[in-house]
Amino acid sequence: MNKRRALSKVIFGVIVVSLSVALIGCTKKTEQKNDEKLKVTVSINPLKEFAQAIGGDKIDINMMVPEGMEPHDFEPKSKDLIELNKSQIFIYNGLGMEEWLDKVTDTIEDKDKIQLIDSSKGIEAIKTAGKIDPHIWLSLKNAKIQSNNIKEALIKADAKNKDYYEKNYKDFSEKLDKLYSDNVSRFKELSNKDFVTGHEAFGYLCRDFGLTQKSVEDVFGEGEITPQKLKELVEFCKTNKVKTIFAEQLASPKVSETLANEVGANVQSIYTIESKEDNKDYYESMKDNLDKIYNSLK
Ligand SMILES: [Zn+2]
Repeated sequence: MNKRRALSKVIFGVIVVSLSVALIGCTKKTEQKNDEKLKVTVSINPLKEFAQAIGGDKIDINMMVPEGMEPHDFEPKSKDLIELNKSQIFIYNGLGMEEWLDKVTDTIEDKDKIQLIDSSKGIEAIKTAGKIDPHIWLSLKNAKIQSNNIKEALIKADAKNKDYYEKNYKDFSEKLDKLYSDNVSRFKELSNKDFVTGHEAFGYLCRDFGLTQKSVEDVFGEGEITPQKLKELVEFCKTNKVKTIFAEQLASPKVSETLANEVGANVQSIYTIESKEDNKDYYESMKDNLDKIYNSLK
Protein backbone atom coordinates (compact mmCIF):
# COMPACT_ATOMS: atom_id res chain seq x y z
CA MET A 1 0.00 0.00 0.00
CA ASN A 2 1.52 3.32 -0.94
CA LYS A 3 1.44 6.44 1.21
CA ARG A 4 -1.40 8.11 -0.63
CA ARG A 5 -3.57 5.01 -0.35
CA ALA A 6 -2.81 4.69 3.36
CA LEU A 7 -3.68 8.33 3.94
CA SER A 8 -6.94 8.10 2.02
CA LYS A 9 -7.83 5.04 4.08
CA VAL A 10 -7.37 7.01 7.30
CA ILE A 11 -9.43 9.89 5.94
CA PHE A 12 -12.14 7.47 4.90
CA GLY A 13 -12.22 5.98 8.40
CA VAL A 14 -12.76 9.43 9.85
CA ILE A 15 -15.58 10.05 7.38
CA VAL A 16 -17.29 6.79 8.35
CA VAL A 17 -17.18 7.62 12.06
CA SER A 18 -18.53 11.13 11.56
CA LEU A 19 -21.15 9.77 9.20
CA SER A 20 -22.47 7.43 11.89
CA VAL A 21 -22.83 10.39 14.22
CA ALA A 22 -24.57 12.45 11.54
CA LEU A 23 -26.99 9.63 10.76
CA ILE A 24 -28.26 9.27 14.29
CA GLY A 25 -29.31 12.90 14.10
CA CYS A 26 -31.20 12.89 10.83
CA THR A 27 -32.74 9.49 10.13
CA LYS A 28 -36.07 10.18 11.79
CA LYS A 29 -36.81 13.42 9.99
CA THR A 30 -36.23 12.06 6.44
CA GLU A 31 -38.31 8.98 7.01
CA GLN A 32 -41.30 11.13 7.84
CA LYS A 33 -40.79 13.59 4.99
CA ASN A 34 -40.36 11.14 2.10
CA ASP A 35 -42.95 8.70 3.31
CA GLU A 36 -44.70 8.12 -0.01
CA LYS A 37 -41.76 8.01 -2.41
CA LEU A 38 -39.08 5.35 -2.56
CA LYS A 39 -35.66 6.84 -2.14
CA VAL A 40 -33.30 5.38 -4.73
CA THR A 41 -29.60 6.07 -5.00
CA VAL A 42 -27.90 5.36 -8.32
CA SER A 43 -24.20 5.60 -9.07
CA ILE A 44 -24.13 7.00 -12.61
CA ASN A 45 -26.31 8.81 -15.15
CA PRO A 46 -27.51 5.89 -17.32
CA LEU A 47 -28.95 4.25 -14.20
CA LYS A 48 -30.68 7.49 -13.31
CA GLU A 49 -32.22 7.46 -16.78
CA PHE A 50 -33.44 3.86 -16.42
CA ALA A 51 -34.70 4.37 -12.86
CA GLN A 52 -36.58 7.48 -13.99
CA ALA A 53 -38.15 5.64 -16.93
CA ILE A 54 -39.39 2.80 -14.70
CA GLY A 55 -39.96 4.55 -11.36
CA GLY A 56 -41.55 7.74 -12.71
CA ASP A 57 -43.08 9.85 -9.96
CA LYS A 58 -43.08 7.04 -7.41
CA ILE A 59 -39.39 7.43 -6.62
CA ASP A 60 -36.87 10.07 -5.58
CA ILE A 61 -33.51 9.59 -7.28
CA ASN A 62 -30.20 10.59 -5.82
CA MET A 63 -27.22 10.26 -8.19
CA MET A 64 -23.80 9.76 -6.65
CA VAL A 65 -21.48 10.81 -9.49
CA PRO A 66 -22.44 14.44 -10.10
CA GLU A 67 -23.52 15.84 -13.49
CA GLY A 68 -20.60 16.71 -15.70
CA MET A 69 -18.05 14.57 -13.88
CA GLU A 70 -16.10 11.85 -15.68
CA PRO A 71 -17.22 8.79 -13.65
CA HIS A 72 -13.90 6.97 -14.09
CA ASP A 73 -12.33 9.73 -11.92
CA PHE A 74 -14.99 9.79 -9.18
CA GLU A 75 -14.18 9.38 -5.47
CA PRO A 76 -17.09 9.22 -2.96
CA LYS A 77 -17.38 11.95 -0.33
CA SER A 78 -18.98 11.82 3.10
CA LYS A 79 -22.16 13.52 1.86
CA ASP A 80 -22.58 10.69 -0.69
CA LEU A 81 -22.48 8.13 2.10
CA ILE A 82 -25.06 10.06 4.13
CA GLU A 83 -27.44 10.17 1.14
CA LEU A 84 -26.87 6.49 0.39
CA ASN A 85 -27.75 5.54 3.95
CA LYS A 86 -31.11 7.32 3.60
CA SER A 87 -32.03 5.18 0.56
CA GLN A 88 -34.07 2.00 0.30
CA ILE A 89 -32.34 0.92 -2.92
CA PHE A 90 -28.81 1.43 -4.21
CA ILE A 91 -28.37 0.66 -7.91
CA TYR A 92 -24.87 0.42 -9.30
CA ASN A 93 -23.68 -0.41 -12.80
CA GLY A 94 -21.38 -3.29 -11.89
CA LEU A 95 -18.55 -4.94 -13.88
CA GLY A 96 -16.00 -2.66 -12.22
CA MET A 97 -17.49 0.66 -13.33
CA GLU A 98 -17.60 1.70 -9.67
CA GLU A 99 -14.05 1.01 -8.51
CA TRP A 100 -15.01 2.49 -5.13
CA LEU A 101 -18.03 0.20 -4.64
CA ASP A 102 -16.78 -1.84 -1.65
CA LYS A 103 -15.67 1.27 0.21
CA VAL A 104 -19.18 2.67 -0.12
CA THR A 105 -21.21 -0.46 0.63
CA ASP A 106 -19.07 -1.10 3.73
CA THR A 107 -20.56 2.07 5.25
CA ILE A 108 -24.15 0.86 5.00
CA GLU A 109 -25.48 0.83 8.55
CA ASP A 110 -28.47 -1.42 8.15
CA LYS A 111 -27.80 -4.01 5.44
CA ASP A 112 -31.40 -5.32 5.63
CA LYS A 113 -32.87 -1.90 4.91
CA ILE A 114 -31.07 -1.13 1.64
CA GLN A 115 -31.36 -3.37 -1.44
CA LEU A 116 -28.08 -3.46 -3.36
CA ILE A 117 -28.75 -3.90 -7.07
CA ASP A 118 -26.09 -4.89 -9.56
CA SER A 119 -27.64 -3.65 -12.80
CA SER A 120 -25.32 -5.84 -14.89
CA LYS A 121 -26.84 -9.09 -13.61
CA GLY A 122 -27.62 -11.29 -16.62
CA ILE A 123 -25.46 -9.36 -19.10
CA GLU A 124 -22.70 -11.10 -21.02
CA ALA A 125 -19.58 -8.98 -20.45
CA ILE A 126 -17.02 -8.07 -23.08
CA LYS A 127 -13.33 -8.33 -22.27
CA THR A 128 -10.96 -6.01 -24.06
CA ALA A 129 -7.17 -6.20 -23.63
CA GLY A 130 -7.69 -8.30 -20.49
CA LYS A 131 -10.08 -5.80 -18.87
CA ILE A 132 -13.83 -6.10 -18.53
CA ASP A 133 -15.63 -3.33 -20.39
CA PRO A 134 -18.19 -1.78 -18.01
CA HIS A 135 -20.03 0.41 -20.61
CA ILE A 136 -22.95 -2.00 -20.87
CA TRP A 137 -25.69 0.68 -21.11
CA LEU A 138 -24.51 1.70 -24.60
CA SER A 139 -26.28 -1.40 -25.89
CA LEU A 140 -30.05 -1.15 -26.31
CA LYS A 141 -30.35 -4.83 -25.45
CA ASN A 142 -28.37 -4.43 -22.24
CA ALA A 143 -30.40 -1.35 -21.33
CA LYS A 144 -33.47 -3.57 -21.26
CA ILE A 145 -31.77 -6.07 -18.94
CA GLN A 146 -30.58 -3.29 -16.63
CA SER A 147 -34.05 -1.72 -16.61
CA ASN A 148 -35.59 -5.07 -15.83
CA ASN A 149 -33.23 -5.53 -12.86
CA ILE A 150 -34.24 -2.07 -11.65
CA LYS A 151 -37.93 -2.85 -12.12
CA GLU A 152 -37.64 -6.02 -10.04
CA ALA A 153 -35.94 -4.07 -7.25
CA LEU A 154 -38.64 -1.39 -7.26
CA ILE A 155 -41.39 -4.00 -7.09
CA LYS A 156 -39.66 -5.78 -4.23
CA ALA A 157 -39.45 -2.54 -2.26
CA ASP A 158 -42.89 -1.19 -3.24
CA ALA A 159 -45.19 -4.04 -4.25
CA LYS A 160 -48.36 -1.92 -4.17
CA ASN A 161 -47.16 -0.08 -7.30
CA LYS A 162 -46.20 -3.23 -9.20
CA ASP A 163 -48.56 -2.56 -12.13
CA TYR A 164 -47.21 0.95 -12.53
CA TYR A 165 -43.59 -0.25 -12.72
CA GLU A 166 -44.50 -3.12 -15.06
CA LYS A 167 -46.33 -0.77 -17.42
CA ASN A 168 -43.44 1.74 -17.49
CA TYR A 169 -40.97 -1.05 -18.16
CA LYS A 170 -43.10 -2.38 -21.00
CA ASP A 171 -43.40 1.08 -22.63
CA PHE A 172 -39.69 1.77 -22.25
CA SER A 173 -38.52 -1.60 -23.55
CA GLU A 174 -40.86 -1.40 -26.55
CA LYS A 175 -39.34 1.96 -27.44
CA LEU A 176 -35.84 0.45 -27.22
CA ASP A 177 -36.89 -2.60 -29.27
CA LYS A 178 -38.21 -0.34 -32.02
CA LEU A 179 -34.99 1.70 -32.13
CA TYR A 180 -32.98 -1.53 -32.26
CA SER A 181 -34.95 -3.07 -35.11
CA ASP A 182 -34.94 0.20 -37.09
CA ASN A 183 -31.14 0.19 -36.92
CA VAL A 184 -30.17 -3.45 -37.16
CA SER A 185 -31.35 -3.79 -40.76
CA ARG A 186 -29.74 -0.63 -42.07
CA PHE A 187 -26.39 -1.34 -40.38
CA LYS A 188 -26.42 -4.83 -41.88
CA GLU A 189 -26.41 -3.35 -45.39
CA LEU A 190 -23.27 -1.27 -44.82
CA SER A 191 -19.94 -2.54 -46.10
CA ASN A 192 -17.93 -0.13 -43.95
CA LYS A 193 -18.22 -1.14 -40.26
CA ASP A 194 -15.33 0.73 -38.58
CA PHE A 195 -15.61 4.00 -36.73
CA VAL A 196 -13.23 6.03 -34.56
CA THR A 197 -14.07 7.35 -31.08
CA GLY A 198 -12.35 9.29 -28.30
CA HIS A 199 -12.54 6.65 -25.57
CA GLU A 200 -13.23 2.99 -26.04
CA ALA A 201 -16.78 3.04 -24.66
CA PHE A 202 -18.83 1.61 -27.53
CA GLY A 203 -17.95 -2.09 -27.49
CA TYR A 204 -21.49 -3.19 -26.58
CA LEU A 205 -23.10 -0.95 -29.18
CA CYS A 206 -20.70 -2.48 -31.71
CA ARG A 207 -21.68 -6.00 -30.65
CA ASP A 208 -25.38 -5.18 -31.16
CA PHE A 209 -24.85 -3.96 -34.72
CA GLY A 210 -21.77 -5.85 -35.94
CA LEU A 211 -19.53 -2.74 -35.91
CA THR A 212 -15.90 -2.14 -34.88
CA GLN A 213 -14.53 0.80 -32.92
CA LYS A 214 -11.02 2.20 -32.93
CA SER A 215 -10.29 4.69 -30.21
CA VAL A 216 -7.83 7.24 -28.97
CA GLU A 217 -8.09 6.36 -25.26
CA ASP A 218 -8.61 2.98 -23.64
CA VAL A 219 -11.75 1.58 -22.06
CA PHE A 220 -11.26 3.51 -18.81
CA GLY A 221 -10.56 6.80 -20.56
CA GLU A 222 -6.90 6.48 -19.71
CA GLY A 223 -3.68 6.51 -21.66
CA GLU A 224 -1.89 9.51 -23.07
CA ILE A 225 -1.79 9.34 -26.82
CA THR A 226 1.70 8.35 -27.94
CA PRO A 227 3.15 9.37 -31.31
CA GLN A 228 3.12 5.67 -32.21
CA LYS A 229 -0.61 5.31 -31.38
CA LEU A 230 -1.45 8.49 -33.29
CA LYS A 231 0.48 7.19 -36.28
CA GLU A 232 -1.46 3.90 -36.17
CA LEU A 233 -4.78 5.72 -35.98
CA VAL A 234 -3.83 8.02 -38.86
CA GLU A 235 -2.94 5.01 -40.99
CA PHE A 236 -6.14 3.23 -40.00
CA CYS A 237 -8.24 6.28 -40.95
CA LYS A 238 -6.47 6.69 -44.28
CA THR A 239 -6.72 3.02 -45.21
CA ASN A 240 -10.39 2.82 -44.26
CA LYS A 241 -11.23 6.29 -45.65
CA VAL A 242 -12.65 7.36 -42.30
CA LYS A 243 -14.56 10.62 -42.81
CA THR A 244 -15.70 11.24 -39.24
CA ILE A 245 -13.90 11.12 -35.90
CA PHE A 246 -16.21 11.01 -32.91
CA ALA A 247 -15.34 12.99 -29.80
CA GLU A 248 -16.84 12.88 -26.32
CA GLN A 249 -17.24 15.84 -24.08
CA LEU A 250 -15.68 14.17 -21.04
CA ALA A 251 -12.82 12.40 -22.85
CA SER A 252 -10.22 14.26 -24.87
CA PRO A 253 -11.76 16.12 -27.79
CA LYS A 254 -8.37 17.78 -28.50
CA VAL A 255 -6.77 14.50 -29.58
CA SER A 256 -9.76 13.64 -31.74
CA GLU A 257 -9.39 17.04 -33.40
CA THR A 258 -5.68 16.52 -34.00
CA LEU A 259 -6.40 13.16 -35.59
CA ALA A 260 -9.22 14.57 -37.72
CA ASN A 261 -6.99 17.39 -39.01
CA GLU A 262 -4.28 14.91 -39.83
CA VAL A 263 -6.52 12.75 -42.03
CA GLY A 264 -8.91 15.41 -43.33
CA ALA A 265 -11.92 14.05 -41.45
CA ASN A 266 -14.54 16.03 -39.55
CA VAL A 267 -15.20 15.81 -35.82
CA GLN A 268 -18.65 15.02 -34.46
CA SER A 269 -19.87 14.66 -30.92
CA ILE A 270 -21.05 11.31 -29.61
CA TYR A 271 -22.71 10.54 -26.28
CA THR A 272 -21.30 8.02 -23.81
CA ILE A 273 -24.27 8.98 -21.57
CA GLU A 274 -21.85 8.79 -18.63
CA SER A 275 -23.21 12.26 -17.95
CA LYS A 276 -26.32 13.97 -19.32
CA GLU A 277 -25.49 16.12 -22.34
CA ASP A 278 -27.52 18.59 -24.39
CA ASN A 279 -30.47 17.79 -22.12
CA LYS A 280 -31.11 14.56 -24.04
CA ASP A 281 -32.54 11.51 -22.31
CA TYR A 282 -31.24 7.96 -22.83
CA TYR A 283 -33.42 7.21 -25.86
CA GLU A 284 -32.65 10.52 -27.58
CA SER A 285 -28.90 10.17 -26.96
CA MET A 286 -28.83 6.61 -28.34
CA LYS A 287 -30.91 7.57 -31.37
CA ASP A 288 -28.56 10.47 -32.05
CA ASN A 289 -25.49 8.21 -31.66
CA LEU A 290 -26.87 5.58 -34.04
CA ASP A 291 -27.92 8.15 -36.65
CA LYS A 292 -24.52 9.82 -36.56
CA ILE A 293 -22.58 6.55 -36.73
CA TYR A 294 -24.76 5.32 -39.58
CA ASN A 295 -24.38 8.55 -41.55
CA SER A 296 -20.61 8.49 -41.09
CA LEU A 297 -20.39 4.95 -42.49
CA LYS A 298 -22.83 4.95 -45.38
ZN1 LIG B 1 -16.19 5.44 -19.83
